[in-house]
Amino acid sequence: MDEDLRKAVEFHGHLCPGLAIGYRVSKYVKEHYPRSEDEELVAVVENSSCSVDAIQDILGCTFGKGNLIYKNRGKQVFTIYSRGNDKDRALRIYFKGDLFSGSMDALKGKYFKGELSVDEKKEFDRLRDEIIQRIINAPDEEILSVTEVDLPVPEKARIYPSLICQECEECFMEICGRTAKGKIVCQECFEKLVC
Ligand SMILES: [Zn+2]
Ligand SMILES: [Zn+2]
Repeated sequence: MDEDLRKAVEFHGHLCPGLAIGYRVSKYVKEHYPRSEDEELVAVVENSSCSVDAIQDILGCTFGKGNLIYKNRGKQVFTIYSRGNDKDRALRIYFKGDLFSGSMDALKGKYFKGELSVDEKKEFDRLRDEIIQRIINAPDEEILSVTEVDLPVPEKARIYPSLICQECEECFMEICGRTAKGKIVCQECFEKLVC
C-alpha cells in the first residue's frame, strides 16, 4: 500500500472499493494535472460516496475550504481544476470500473438484507478484496475515462440574509427556508411539520 492510500484508509476508516476509486482518481490527478506546489485544487464531485473521502484526503479538497463542490448526480465523475490556472484546463474523470462489480451481483442482494450464510460471506469478502486489488492495480486506461473540459463556471459565494425559524427559533439562511402551517420555518421543522 503506498503512502497516499495508507493515509486515505486512516482518514476514511476502512479500505473499500469506493475508497480505491477515489485513490486512483487522486493519483491520476497528482500525476497529470500540472500545477505549482501551493496551488489549490478544486474538485467537483458528482456523488457523495466513499470515493470522495480519498479525494478530500489525498488532494486536499474539502467542504470547509470551499474547494469541494458536490453535485448530486449519482455518478463516479470528478472534475478537477485549479482556480489559479490560466490555461482553462480541467480534467473530467469518469470511473468506468463498475465492470468489476458484476461478479458480486448475485450475493449483493442478500448482503444488504443481512442474509449471507457463513460461506457466502467468505465468498463475498473474497470477491470484494479481489475488486479492491483490481481497482488499485488496473492500468489507468482500463478504469478511467479522462477528458479535458472547459473550467466549470465558478459558483459565487453568495451571502443571504438570516431568518429566525418560527417553530424552533434557530437561525437559518433565508434561501433554505420553507413555509408550513402559516409559519416561515427551517427545513428541519418543515420536515417535522409536514411529513
Ligand atoms: Zn468505504
Ligand atoms: Zn426550525
